[in-house]
Amino acid sequence: MCGVFGIYGHEEAANLTYLGLHALQHRGQESAGIVTSSDKRLYQQVHMGLVSDSFNADVLARLPGNAAIGHVRYSTSGHSEIRNAQPFLFEYAHGSISIAHNGNLVNARSVRKRLEGTGSIFQTNSDTETIIHLMAQAREPESIERLASALRQVTGAYSLLLLTETRLIAVRDPHGFRPLAIGKLKDATVFSSETCAFGLIEAEMERELDPGEVVICEGSSVRSYRPFEATRGRVKERGCVFEHVYFARPDSDINGRSVYSSRVRMGQQLAREAANEGEGDVVIAVPDSGVPAAIGYAAESGLPFANGLIRSHYVGRTFIEPQDSIRHFGVRLKLSPVRSVVEGKRVVVVDDSLVRGTTSHKIVAMLKAAGAKEVHLRISAPPTTHSCFYGLDTPTRSELIASSHSIKEIADFVGCTSLAYLSHAGLMSSLDTVEGEDSGFCSACFTGQYPVAIEGENAGKLVSLSKGSAAH
Ligand code: AMP
Repeated sequence: MCGVFGIYGHEEAANLTYLGLHALQHRGQESAGIVTSSDKRLYQQVHMGLVSDSFNADVLARLPGNAAIGHVRYSTSGHSEIRNAQPFLFEYAHGSISIAHNGNLVNARSVRKRLEGTGSIFQTNSDTETIIHLMAQAREPESIERLASALRQVTGAYSLLLLTETRLIAVRDPHGFRPLAIGKLKDATVFSSETCAFGLIEAEMERELDPGEVVICEGSSVRSYRPFEATRGRVKERGCVFEHVYFARPDSDINGRSVYSSRVRMGQQLAREAANEGEGDVVIAVPDSGVPAAIGYAAESGLPFANGLIRSHYVGRTFIEPQDSIRHFGVRLKLSPVRSVVEGKRVVVVDDSLVRGTTSHKIVAMLKAAGAKEVHLRISAPPTTHSCFYGLDTPTRSELIASSHSIKEIADFVGCTSLAYLSHAGLMSSLDTVEGEDSGFCSACFTGQYPVAIEGENAGKLVSLSKGSAAH
């Protein structure tokens, strides 16, 4: 997963983009980059690592101009290479162009193969680059038409920001898998994956881009364009449900909903479905993402909420290879139990999702070692049974514990006293939609119903594209 931020028409474009990327840091920690436009030239700074490590006053001073786009990248696959760090910058027949992408193209391999067959030389192993090659090959005279032509040839998830010498262009794919919002800061137009970045720079949120919408900022004009009009009615909106469950920051609004409020409702609904009388003395969360749901669970079940796990906010990547004797230190470095909260108690632990089960296993062991009498694990989402091909870096299907194990087997593996998940209908109701009706969400990771067909070989293997290529 990744985050994108852009601003057009502000003299402090690079500085504000730097701040915007800070607010989006949770969406990607692997690399950070900014490209600006000034005097018909583009300037690029991309670095591996966190935003705060990548930029300082000197680096930002090398990014002049009134327009900027920025990117933070996330990948857990280990393909951590500077050449995949965005925004990318290319020179082609029509000038300079930079691109920042959140999402994942599902037909990138076949498009790339075709382009390479006709002589294209790729500089990265990222799906994003295919869009620029397709634009370069397009014959349309107008740049927006060339972009539209390229986008009609790719499928999957893309929220994009593009910067040329004169324009900033924002795009959301026809399904609207990934979020992208537009706002105003005085006369400047701002774009962000999440609205929490607008709060930080005191920009005013205007609206989310519609699925399939392209917004072009040029001079003093901001125009909206809909190149996928022909597919309207056939292509349904499919915002990623996992943004609401785990990915987005709780102080953001997505699909017109407060992420925090939705998570509290997921916790309340989970309690209605899974809280048994007399089961539990205290509700704790796996911080940070499990906190709103735990608050909702506690309120609904009538049990007290307490901070039973403390998260260290200073742990970045660790580079020490653990020996067997300290193999689990990774989780302990990040999370630490509060003995006085859990000792002798029947503890209800609320987390937002269970993917491989390995972290949960360690958390349960840690709570028991701190004296918890019972550990009842409650997950405020349904079992994650399928890989995501639209930009979440979820593991291959065989690594998803719920793809091949029953709830009882998962509970045994994790070592908890009891385990319960939120139902899919319960998740939908927490998001004000009704199971069975068109929800407007993609919940393929819970249902296996993929709104956009996955390329042949991947469909067979059900391997996340983001493992081999770069996830954004
Ligand atoms: P595990 O027990 O190993 O399946 O890990 C579960 C934890 O992973 C939960 O606390 C989730 O909040 C977190 N999680 C879920 N999805 C992701 C993701 N895409 N990247 C990193 N952590 C995640």
